[in-house]
Amino acid sequence: MKCFSSFLGKRTTTFFPFIVWLLVSCNSAPSHAENPPNSQPAELQKVEQTVQQEASPVIDTTHWYVYLTFDDGPQPGTANCIQICKEEQVKASFFMVGLHTDRWRAGKLLVDSIRQAYPLFVLANHSYSHANNHYRYFYEHPDAALADFQQAEQVVRPNFRIARLPGNNAWGIEHKEKSHHLVAAVLHKMDSIGYDVIGWDQEWNFRHTNARPVQSPDSLVARTMQLLREGKTRIPRHLVLLSHDRMFYHPADSASLQRYIFLLKQQPEVVFQTIDQYPGVSKSTPITAHTF
Ligand SMILES: [Zn+2]
Repeated sequence: MKCFSSFLGKRTTTFFPFIVWLLVSCNSAPSHAENPPNSQPAELQKVEQTVQQEASPVIDTTHWYVYLTFDDGPQPGTANCIQICKEEQVKASFFMVGLHTDRWRAGKLLVDSIRQAYPLFVLANHSYSHANNHYRYFYEHPDAALADFQQAEQVVRPNFRIARLPGNNAWGIEHKEKSHHLVAAVLHKMDSIGYDVIGWDQEWNFRHTNARPVQSPDSLVARTMQLLREGKTRIPRHLVLLSHDRMFYHPADSASLQRYIFLLKQQPEVVFQTIDQYPGVSKSTPITAHTF
């Protein structure tokens, strides 16, 4: 299934007056590594060990990592996603659309709050126009598509050069691409300017008539755990879940998101993580600090 925002254009403006904005603050998470002994002075050892820790992250084989990702915001539902993830203190990543950010002042504030909540949240690039929902044309014009992502970068100001393609489940990490041939040229261009492109392993589908979730949280968790147990994800032990902010606008659907999180928290092996921590993502281009 894909991200469809044709429906957004009309629906977002309809719902704007009904949104309550909930902006709260954030916190962080730890990391660790083994330090081999050597014969150099203690201070020098300390410096080299720090470099080693950053260069060679320890591979944790005891946990299963779930990356909650929300696409197409800011839009009705985004504030609920923020509030729930903050209340539950679970990490999440938001792939935002430049056009939606530009045309909605309250949406801009939501985008700012997500950016500032790092490392609880990661703000990422989901293009400026969302391909205007003409995906084939968009990907057949890779220079224009790249410019579209660069325009979004100026508006959304993501934490890192991490992106998701509109309407396409493609991966482009560590200069390796896994995609439909239609989007290969765009992936290559994104890579050339330092972007990692993230797809997904599982989607929480929505009804295109009303944007409400299809699967129940219980059935979704069962499938999440099955995919992890059977290693049917791009990288074993790591599962990226695609959902869309607008799915969680209605209170009953917000409750479904909360229950999905609650049920996953009952699984002792599961750790929620942000997409900058996904294996192979470079994080070498923290653009917020340097560009803006
Ligand atoms: Zn999308």
